[in-house]
Amino acid sequence: AAPLVIAVSTAISAKKGLLIRNRANFEGARNLNAVVFDKTGTLTKGEFGVTNIVPSESYNEDEILSFAASLEQNSEHPIATGIVKFSEERKVKLGKVTDFESITGKGIQGKVNGKKVNVVSPGYVKNHHLSYDQQLFNEMSEEGKTVVFVLLEDELTGMIALADMVRETAKEAITSLKENGVRSIMLTGDNQKVANWVAKQLDIDEVYAEVLPDDKANQVKKIKEEKGWKVAMTGDGVNDAPALATADLGIAIGAGTDVAMETADVVLVRSNPKDVVDLMELSKKTYRKMV
Ligand code: ADP
Ligand code: MG
Repeated sequence: AAPLVIAVSTAISAKKGLLIRNRANFEGARNLNAVVFDKTGTLTKGEFGVTNIVPSESYNEDEILSFAASLEQNSEHPIATGIVKFSEERKVKLGKVTDFESITGKGIQGKVNGKKVNVVSPGYVKNHHLSYDQQLFNEMSEEGKTVVFVLLEDELTGMIALADMVRETAKEAITSLKENGVRSIMLTGDNQKVANWVAKQLDIDEVYAEVLPDDKANQVKKIKEEKGWKVAMTGDGVNDAPALATADLGIAIGAGTDVAMETADVVLVRSNPKDVVDLMELSKKTYRKMV
C-alpha cells in the first residue's frame, strides 16, 4: 500500500504548501531534535527599511546614501533592496558603478564614479580598525536594527541603520516546536546584538551570530556530531545553501533565492516558518501509515 500512501501524502503536502523534493529526507523529519533557522528572510520578513543615516564629519546623508545605493543596485541582498528603495524615495542621484564585487557574508565593494566604495558589516570595520560612534552603534543594534558602514577610498563616511520585521508566524513556530520537545537554534551573519534582539522576541533556545556562510554549514555539522542530534536547517539565502545541504533535512523559504530552493529537501511555498511544524507532523503520519 505504500505507493498509494505516498500519492495521498503528496497531495496533502501540496495543499499545505509543502513542496517535497527529497522524500527520504522528508520522512526523517518525524524524529528531529532541533531546527536551525537563518535570521534574515526566514524568521524575519527580509524587508528592510532605512531608519537612520549617520554621517561622519564632512559628509551629508544624501552623499552617503548615494554612494551606498549606487553600489547596492548590483546586490540582491535584502539590505540592498532597502537601501536602493530609500534612495528612490529621497530622489538622490546615483553614480556609475564599475568593478562590483560582493565580499561573502561581509558586504560589497566597487567603484562609484571611479572612486572605491564599500558597504560592509560591523565585523569588516572592526577588522580594518576604523573608528566610529560605538555608543550610537550599540544603541541602534540593541533596538534590533542592522547597521552597515559606508566607506569611500577605505575611509568611513557614515553608518546606515535598517529595520526588518519579525514574521508573526515565526513565534508560533518556535512555541510549537518547544511543545514538541524540539529545540530551536538561530544562525545569522548579522551582528550579535541584533541576533539577541530577534531571539528574545521569539524565545529561541540558542543563538549563533556573525557566522560566515561556510561556517553556517560547519555549525550545523557540529550540532549534529557533538550532540548526536537529527537537525533540520531552514533558510532563504545563497549563504544558507551549504548549511541546507549539510543538515539531515534542508528546508527553504519559498520567497527565498533559487539556490536555496534547489539545495533544499523541502520548500515552504507559503514562506511560513510555522509550516515546519506541519511538515514534521505530516512525516509522522505518513510513516505510521507505511509500517
Ligand atoms: P544573514 O545570515 O542574516 O542572512 P548574511 O550572511 O547575508 O546575513 O550577511 C551578513 C552581514 O553581511 C549583513 O548583516 C551585513 O552586515 C553584511 N552584508 C551582506 N550583504 C550586504 C550588502 N549587500 N550590503 C551591505 N552589507 C551586506
Ligand atoms: Mg537569510
